[in-house]
Formats: sequence, structure tokens, C-alpha cells
Amino acid sequence: MTLLNSTESLRAMDAAHHLHPFTDASALNAKGARIITHADGVHLTDSDGNRILDGMAGLWCVAIGYGRPEIADAVARQLRQLPFYNTFFQTSHPPVIELGHLLSQVTPDHINRFFFTGSGSDANDTIFRMIAHYWAVMGQPDRTIIVSRQGAYHGSTVAASAVGGFGFMHAQPGLPVGNILHAPRPAWWAEGGELSPEDFGLKVARDTLALIDGIGAHRVAGFIAEPIMGAGGVIIPPDSYWPALSAGLTERGVMLISDEVICGFGRTGSWFGCQTYGTTPDFMTMAKGLTSGYIPMGAVGVSDRVAEVLTAKGGEFAHGYTYSGHPAACAAAIANLGILRSEGIVDRVADDIGPYLQGKWRALADHPLVGEAVMTGLIGAIQLCADKGARRAFDEDLGVGMMCREHAFANGLIMRAVGDRMVVSPPLVLTHAEADELVEKAWRVLDLTQ
Ligand code: PLP
Repeated sequence: MTLLNSTESLRAMDAAHHLHPFTDASALNAKGARIITHADGVHLTDSDGNRILDGMAGLWCVAIGYGRPEIADAVARQLRQLPFYNTFFQTSHPPVIELGHLLSQVTPDHINRFFFTGSGSDANDTIFRMIAHYWAVMGQPDRTIIVSRQGAYHGSTVAASAVGGFGFMHAQPGLPVGNILHAPRPAWWAEGGELSPEDFGLKVARDTLALIDGIGAHRVAGFIAEPIMGAGGVIIPPDSYWPALSAGLTERGVMLISDEVICGFGRTGSWFGCQTYGTTPDFMTMAKGLTSGYIPMGAVGVSDRVAEVLTAKGGEFAHGYTYSGHPAACAAAIANLGILRSEGIVDRVADDIGPYLQGKWRALADHPLVGEAVMTGLIGAIQLCADKGARRAFDEDLGVGMMCREHAFANGLIMRAVGDRMVVSPPLVLTHAEADELVEKAWRVLDLTQ
């Protein structure tokens, strides 16, 4: 440990041995990693002692804030009692049983069965296999195509990254996964042209359904989307989008997969984003807020109509992970759900801190650099732009978003840059004073970025 007593030695060892996700190693090693040593509430502390407001709740996950002893205690108790046992081959254990029961109380009424995974990516992979299995059992084996959206992120496994709509991920070799189509996204600011947001929402829904009709709806297994696209830049859909799209999917027998990895567990002001938008998915992907990120875990929520077919006629589902339903992860999720419920955190996002931060956040649209400032629940974005009136973006090569992100960090605020969209998704336990701090820092950072 003596080697690890200064920021420089930590950075040197990190550069020597650690391959980071989503990172250009040569750029990183030139300046060294930012090293976070501890955290409490909504604030992080780095290895130089700087205190930083975490406007991203880690990676959209630390819903209940950092440093909650209830989670640490629950996990420690579970590790002492039963640190591991698997859930394969007709085996179960109390924490996984309790977690399934608790989840059925907070998910929509028609979602009552859960398959547990280690992350959001492998939860989506599970769904891609389960949905194909379902259609085969139903005598419609041609339904194998998954329709996703351009600019979507659904994870980093081979299948999840192929289903996602990030061109730069597709450009990397190693994605031999077919049967995927990408529909347009309801990104009004960038792509809405002369249409009103509501007309644009309807157009994108119609174009998506036309894409499905073009390939033949009888070949489409499911449509996967986040209620609000998160890592794709916090694209909040116009109100017209989901009703038109979900009615069209139902007419065509195409199942909806609601990826709730970011939107789940209160982020949009309901327990799940599908409830905010009134859709009834057959599959829900969950991770992140399930344990508030304290322990890795994902889950697939399965509708009654699918689960009844699979449990009665599906035979063995030849799929699973060593850590499906890991006891310590279940203990963390149970304690996390307990905090979310007992502290009324989801209602607080809907009725108190959500509206409070939204009002202040939307006022950032008055800044000359900001084209739009949007937020639902506690997930929001500001679009940096060269010309507000004309809705003209900056030239991508200028890297204005990255510049803004660096100013934010230097000024004690974590915001994420998705191109030139600055996104935030703070812990749901944010106080009013911390909301003020977040927006004041964002104003300062925008002034510095001009
Ligand atoms: N789905 C969505 C919407 C996500 O945002 C993410 C991660 O950010 C994933 C899936 C993948 O989750 P994980 O990183 O836990 O594999």
C-alpha cells in the first residue's frame, strides 16, 4: 500500500495495469486518470481532496446517494451467512426469493417474474434469447428480428452493442449479430426540422412502424427502447411519440422491451419510465438503480402472458449466469428498495425535488450557448449550440461538449458530454440546496465554455 500514497503513484500504477472501459488509453495516460477516493450523499472526493457534486449519480445509478450504512450492513450480514450459492438446477435461497417478491410489488401489475443477471448488458442479452424462445414456443419461429433505435445504448456485450445504435460501436470489429434494424429516434432539437415537437413525435412513430411493415411485422420479435433515451443524450420524447408507437406495436403483435436500466427505480418520477409514458412492455431490463450501484446486478422483468407460456411450455431455458441472483447483490437490492420505499423517494422525485430542479434547469435555456434545456423527473440535458434561433449545432470537431465537461469537473461538478449535449442524472436524494449548487455551477461552466 505504500506505493499508493500519492495521486502520482496511483496514476502511474493505473496506467501500468488498468485497461479502462470507453477510454482512449493514450489520451488518458498523457494526463492520468481522475481518481475518486470516497463519497457521501451526492458528493465525491478525489485524491487531491477536491469535493465534486456528482450530477451523474456515478453512471446514472446511485439513486439513494453514497455512503448509506443500511446497504453496507445488509451486504455484510449476507456475506457472513451465505456469501454465494447459485440459482441453477432447481436451487434457490431466501434473498433471491425475497427480492423477486419485492420487485413484483413495485413493477407494473402485469410484471411478476424476474430473471436475475449481473448487469444491464447481460439482462438485455437474456431478453434477446428469451423473446426468440417465446416466439418459437408460440409457433412463430420467424419472429427473430429486434428493432432498436439509432443512437440507442443497450450495453456492451456482443449482442447488446449490435442492438444498440451507436455507429462508433458498430464500426469496431467483432459484432457478428444479425437480424437487427434501427429506427429513428425522437430527437426533435436535432432532427425535427420545421415540424412542431408533437408532429415530429408522430412522424417518428409512423416511420418506425413503416420500417417494421417494410420488413414484415410477422418477422419482428420485439422493439427495444428506453422510455427516455439516456446515454444517447437524454432525448425526452414528445408526448405524442409513445402512445402512437405503442398502439402500432400492439396492433402488429410486436413486443415492447422497455430498457429501464436508467429510467427505472424512480428516475423519471414513477417507479419505471414505462409508467411515466403509459406503455405496457412485455419485458423490462433493470440494473443500476436496482442496487443503486452498490453491488453489480441486473434483472429482466417478464410479463405474465410471456411467463405463463414459458413456464408451462418452454421446457428448459438453456441460459444463465453464475451470478444470477447472487445473494449479496440481492441483499443490496432488498435494502435499496427498502430505502426507496420507506423514504418515499419516488414520490419526492415526482412532487418535490423533480419539479424544483426542472424549473431551475429549464432556465438554463436563457444562456446564449444553450439551444434547449430539458428535464423529466431527475434526468435532463442541455444542448450546446452555435445558433439558437436556427437550431444549428457546433461543428463536432470543435469538441465544445468535452470542453464544457472539463470546465465542469474543474469547477466541482460532474456532467456528462454526449457530443454537445450536457446531461445530468443526479442522485434522487438531492436536496434543494444541492439542486441550487448544481445549477449555479452549470451556469458558471457555461460562461467559461463560451
Ligand atoms: N441499457 C441501458 C439503457 C444503459 O444505459 C446501460 C448502461 O449504461 C445498459 C443497458 C448496460 O448496462 P451495464 O453497463 O450494467 O451492462
